[in-house]
Amino acid sequence: MQTFDKIVLASNNQGKLAEFQHLFDNANLNIQVIPQGQLNIDDAVEDGLSFIENALIKARHASKISGLPAIADDSGLCVPILGGQPGIYSARFAKDDPIFAKQFLQNKDKTNNKKLLHDLLKYRLQQPIIGQFVCVLALVRHADDPLPIIAQGIWQGEILPNEIGENGFGYDPLFWLPDLQKSSAQLTKIEKNKISHRGQAMSQLLQQLFAQKIF
Ligand code: IMP
Repeated sequence: MQTFDKIVLASNNQGKLAEFQHLFDNANLNIQVIPQGQLNIDDAVEDGLSFIENALIKARHASKISGLPAIADDSGLCVPILGGQPGIYSARFAKDDPIFAKQFLQNKDKTNNKKLLHDLLKYRLQQPIIGQFVCVLALVRHADDPLPIIAQGIWQGEILPNEIGENGFGYDPLFWLPDLQKSSAQLTKIEKNKISHRGQAMSQLLQQLFAQKIF
């Protein structure tokens, strides 16, 4: 039995909205995904230290204000040799670095990539440099839900010494997939979704929803 037919998405990103709606529709779940802006919900303060904490903070915030179930995602790139950086700060990695702050305002993705290459220079002799794309999805049925559904996808690759490929966004041109002999920015969207951190997290989420019969 379906226990909810609406869910708030703790984001206003049209791409993410379409992706989640597609996920539920494809699984024949009759769930309408509503972006939080449509309910005048502002962004939560993301002050967690991990992807899981931040995804949960965002989902609980959206659920508390709307009174509806909510779902949130948090993603980024972790480089173990850098202690997991850029991690939860992936989107604004270069923002507060005095060398890159000005360029960051002009082109965020390109400048984040430049900073990553710069920070990795001293490790370049230790090949390969491992990178992990991470995507966490958190679903709460109500704001105080003690048993949120958490799905975490990890996509492992290597960080290239220079950009390759034109597709994708963010760190894709620096993310090398040795098995495919391609960078993530050389994959089509469909190819990437099948194996990526986000694709993995999405299928895990569905598995858990069906296993627990709680949608
Ligand atoms: P968001 O929280 O999903 O908006 O993503 C945070 C940041 O992580 C993005 O701005 C990118 O810098 C990085 N990121 C997350 N997923 C990907 C990906 O699939 N490719 C490239 N960069 C990504």
